[in-house]
This record gives sequence, C-alpha cells and structure tokens, in this order.
Amino acid sequence: MRLPDYHTHTARCGHAHGRPDEYVAAAKARGLTGIGIADHLPLLPEPDPELSMGVCDLSDYVADVQALKAEFPGYVLLGVEADYRPQTVSEVRSLLEGHPFDYVIGSVHHMGEWGFDDPRQLDEYGRRDIDDVWVEYFQLVGDAAESGLFTILGHLDVVKKFGYRPTRALTSELDHLVARVAAAGVLVEINTAGLHRPVKEAYPTLDILRRLCDAGVPITFGSDAHRPEEVGRDFGHAVELARSAGYAGFASLESRPGEGRAGIGSVPFEASPA
Ligand code: ZN
Ligand code: FE
Ligand code: ZN
Ligand code: FE
Repeated sequence: MRLPDYHTHTARCGHAHGRPDEYVAAAKARGLTGIGIADHLPLLPEPDPELSMGVCDLSDYVADVQALKAEFPGYVLLGVEADYRPQTVSEVRSLLEGHPFDYVIGSVHHMGEWGFDDPRQLDEYGRRDIDDVWVEYFQLVGDAAESGLFTILGHLDVVKKFGYRPTRALTSELDHLVARVAAAGVLVEINTAGLHRPVKEAYPTLDILRRLCDAGVPITFGSDAHRPEEVGRDFGHAVELARSAGYAGFASLESRPGEGRAGIGSVPFEASPA
C-alpha cells in the first residue's frame, strides 16, 4: 500500500510486542511509503506499566527511533501517542517539549479516572448513561484539539470500541466537535485497529469522516499496530473509506530536524484502485 503508517507501538509500552526496527522492517516489507513510531507517552500523573513506558524510558525510546531515522532518512518519523487529560496538560506539554518529536497523536482514553477503552474497566459502562458518556467524550476530544499539544487526533470515536452506541444521533454535538477540530487545524487519522475490536469498524465511522472531509480536515492513516505484523493492516479498506467520505488524498508528514514538528504535505490517492 502506497501510504505511510503513523500509528505504531513497541514493546516499551508494556502491552505491545516488537522493537522499533522490527516495525520499520515490516513497513518496508508491506511496501508502505513511510512509518512513524508513536508509542505511548508515559501516562500521567501515574504511569501504569501495562499502559505506557515510564518517564525514565522516554530518552531511550527517542534515541532508538532517532537512530532509525538516521538509518532510513525520510522514511522513519519519531512520533508519540499522548493521552489528553485536562489535569495533566501542562505536564504533558513539558514532556513533549523535552524531546524532538516529529508529531504527536493526541488520544482520549480517560474520562476522569475511568479508562473507558481499557478492557479491565468495562463494568463502568453499566453504571453510566451511554449518551452522557458520548457527549462527555466528544467534549474532551474537542478540548484535546484546542489544546495545541497534538498534530493528529487518534481514533476519534474510540468510545464506540466495545459497541456501546448512543441512543440518539448526537448531531449537534458532532457538528460542534467537527467545527472545533477544523478550527484547531489538527489532522485526524483513520485508525484501522477498530476493525479488530468488538465494534468491528475503523475509527472514525464513515458519517464522521464525511463531516470532517466537508470541513476540510486532512487525514492520515494509522494501524495502531501493537505487533510488527499489524503494520499497515487494512489500509486498503481505510482508503476505500476515505474515498467514500469524499477524500481525494491524505496528509504526509515531513521531518524538519531542529525545527520542531514535521511539515505537513498533501498527497493524492493513486488513480488506480488501492
Ligand atoms: Zn497501546
Ligand atoms: Fe489510543
Ligand atoms: Zn491509541
Ligand atoms: Fe495507539
């Protein structure tokens, strides 16, 4: 697939497998045009060894990926997936500023203390009003977009992961979210991992992608691979989804060493079917 995969993890996070170089080799074997390693930034305020590397591991992670960037210039990018939690914004900002990340994926995995996408915390869905959960989630994603911390919003509707759907359309909430995302100038990924979760659907859903396309929000592609063999997984499907939503191409990231975050380019989909 002639696309880059910007969302991949490594064994450092405690719940994935493989070294960064194994992910790069997998991307090359699949014919991807690039790969970004975007392992989980240490979860704050309390790192959980099953969810992310510790703060003390971050420099080694950066050094490993930097070495791969030097070995495969223009092919490998140094990314990271950072949690958006309102109470940790300034700490996350300092952590990010201390390292030369090409891009940062911003993801909401928590509402307060509840890790709502963590299979260990599923019971909580039974105690909540599901529409309220979705509304609160959209609010947090909009806040994440406006925080200025992130290049790409990760798995935009991950709250659907376990199949808990809202009981009403949430049209006005969704319109508001898309407007906030567009105004903030962040990118949104098509994340194929959802196809392998109970919901069995990529993030975000086609309806949301159409709205994002209409609002002019550029997209990237991410497998959210937690094993090297998952790199670039289902990207053919993802391109079809993007085209159905009206997209004619995607955003590419170009490393600008010493100048902060990557530059953002625009690449048309190939004329031939993916
Ligand atoms: Zn993970
Ligand atoms: Fe995530
Ligand atoms: Zn993620
Ligand atoms: Fe991820």
